[in-house]
Amino acid sequence: MSLDFLQDSVQYLKGVGPQRSSALAQSGIHTIHDLLSYYPRRYLDRTSVSRIRDLTAGSDPVTVIGTVVSTAIIPGKRNKRFEITIEDDPGRRMKCVWFQGVAWVSRSLELGHKLAVHGKPAKYGGGLSFSHPEFDRLDEDGSKLDTGRIIALYPGSALLEQSGFTSRSFRKIIYALIKERGEELRETLPASVVESLGLMDGRVARRAIHFPKSQEELDGARDRLKFEELFFFQMMLAIKRVGHTKIPGVVMPSNGTLEQHFLEHVLPFRLTNDQQKSLSEIRADMARGVQMNRLLQGDVGSGKTVVAALSALVAIDAGYQVAFMAPTEILAEQHFRSLSVLFKPLGIELNLLTGSTTAAQRKPILSGLKTGSVKIVVGTHAIIQDKVEIHRLGLSVIDEQHRFGVLQRAVLSEKGDRPHVLLMTATPIPRSLALTLYGDIDVSVIRELPPGRQPIKTKMVREKEREGIYKRMREVVASGQQCYIVFPLVEESEKLDLRDAISGHEQIKSTFPNVRVELVHGRMKSVEKEAVMARFVSGESAILVSTTVIEVGVDVPNATFMLIEHAERFGLSQLHQLRGRIGRGKHASTCILMAEYRQSEESRRRLNAMESTTDGFKISEFDMELRGAGDFFGTRQSGLPTFRIANLITDFHILDQARGAAFKLTEQDPNLTKPEHSEMKHYFQLFFERKGLRLSRIG
Ligand code: ADP
Ligand code: MG
Repeated sequence: MSLDFLQDSVQYLKGVGPQRSSALAQSGIHTIHDLLSYYPRRYLDRTSVSRIRDLTAGSDPVTVIGTVVSTAIIPGKRNKRFEITIEDDPGRRMKCVWFQGVAWVSRSLELGHKLAVHGKPAKYGGGLSFSHPEFDRLDEDGSKLDTGRIIALYPGSALLEQSGFTSRSFRKIIYALIKERGEELRETLPASVVESLGLMDGRVARRAIHFPKSQEELDGARDRLKFEELFFFQMMLAIKRVGHTKIPGVVMPSNGTLEQHFLEHVLPFRLTNDQQKSLSEIRADMARGVQMNRLLQGDVGSGKTVVAALSALVAIDAGYQVAFMAPTEILAEQHFRSLSVLFKPLGIELNLLTGSTTAAQRKPILSGLKTGSVKIVVGTHAIIQDKVEIHRLGLSVIDEQHRFGVLQRAVLSEKGDRPHVLLMTATPIPRSLALTLYGDIDVSVIRELPPGRQPIKTKMVREKEREGIYKRMREVVASGQQCYIVFPLVEESEKLDLRDAISGHEQIKSTFPNVRVELVHGRMKSVEKEAVMARFVSGESAILVSTTVIEVGVDVPNATFMLIEHAERFGLSQLHQLRGRIGRGKHASTCILMAEYRQSEESRRRLNAMESTTDGFKISEFDMELRGAGDFFGTRQSGLPTFRIANLITDFHILDQARGAAFKLTEQDPNLTKPEHSEMKHYFQLFFERKGLRLSRIG
């Protein structure tokens, strides 16, 4: 098949050779396909090049093209620096200065070189300079490659530069490649998709992304390649989804007696519309004969637990057992308590299985699970240990699913007879990310909070307002309500001059001598932690000083005030999660963000966002914008794929289109056996499927 040449090594290309190919390999470029997909980071448009005489200090970044007229390494007090002078019009000159990487920059740039330099002009001596500008060498002889209107500039790396690999080198080898073998390129998308969406032809796009003839052509090429990348990614999800729908699941009809009784006589409130809708989606899944794989997404306090409880009843009514797994002991205990309250009137006994369950307590639970007499077990990952055998596991509920590893989740979904799986998360995920991450599982969303909730007022304050805040806290406590004070660190760090939770606790105790103030932090033993939490839950203590251990899921409706110290040090999603501990009852709540006078621009924007909205979805979209999609979940969420050209935030509408097209295609041709799809199938298998499946297993 002609596509196979894309897998050929770059080593044999004109202008590469063994030494350069090993430098390329270190940048992940092994094959011709890798090289063609090594997309330019930027383009130099000669019509928008600035002249040195027109520059002003402090303006936005600009590009200048000039010739190097002097170079010098200048020794300094601590470090030497490298300076060059460039000239565009006769006598019009400016400097470029490097303080880092002096060795290789000075080796790469010589007198007489023609450069494109990109940076922010600043005042320097009597004139202007760029410090650490991006630069690219252009051919002095005006060869055809570098004189087009739009020139591609490639991402570099220290290693590439050490082996003399510049943007110009990339232009050269890619040009030669396309000239010699461009004929062999193929359209990689199905013709129907290209036509119906009016996409640029794949062969044209692969050339134009490197050598655009015009801005319009470049835009078309970019859109086309972004689409293609997202399309194949969605194809992987679509195919996996087709696979899921083939895994048989137990048929569990709804409206059994327990469920009915619960809804009519036990549940103390009416379900919200969103809860109802989520529940009917879950019920439909459980009755369909296919294994359920559903994520229930809802902000803290939106009422996911009740929905999970009702799902559990469907399974129990059908004669099955239920496992309910939470990431920490505190949360498992809390679920245990709140589910016990709900299930007691039904005569269903709950069992708690965590790392601190004693051997004597374990024994009857394990044997009950094995015989089937234990209907529901709540716990931590202790539940998925080898020794735990469950007779007829029908439903696995996994709370805060992102805090479990992929493997741990898989164990619970593969136990026994392929139980239905309900994942829950209180981290609202922007839609674009949800489509990417969870495209192969179903998602239910609870957006609306239960009625009667008072909105949380959020205010950022400074140190000088502290007395006023304490006065407010006294009133809160006097009225019988409770407060949280949250610190970012456990131990004082002299360097950062943080008031840590332990000394904060001492200080609060002396500020509130007649109030029971307690401390909980991550370094305490878990029995101590539980005891402190229990006293706060019961109202014995009025103020809880803590680190972020209270972050997820803790439910004390009577707590209506939260003071977050050093708020500028927390991430936005984390602040939002913390704030979700209050505003859970019928009283109005207040969240105070104590912040430093000196803040970065980004932290100011985070705190402003906190003040302006309590909508978790808005917050998470904002957070993703601030941090970039890759950092959104931190390293733990390593399932997030990285794209070469598409951007999850800005290319959302392309993602939507790609998803629609991919899912439609797999519906029409699930195994890609139609002849008009054979070329695409081959390409997909070669360059996406094998790599991708490793990347993207999530739910
Ligand atoms: P989540 O797990 O989504 O953070 P919970 O399930 O813990 O939220 O619910 C938060 C609180 O709201 C609980 O005290 C619960 O009893 C209450 N609640 C849930 N659904 C409703 C409803 N429909 N009406 C009134 N209160 C509700
Ligand atoms: Mg919860």
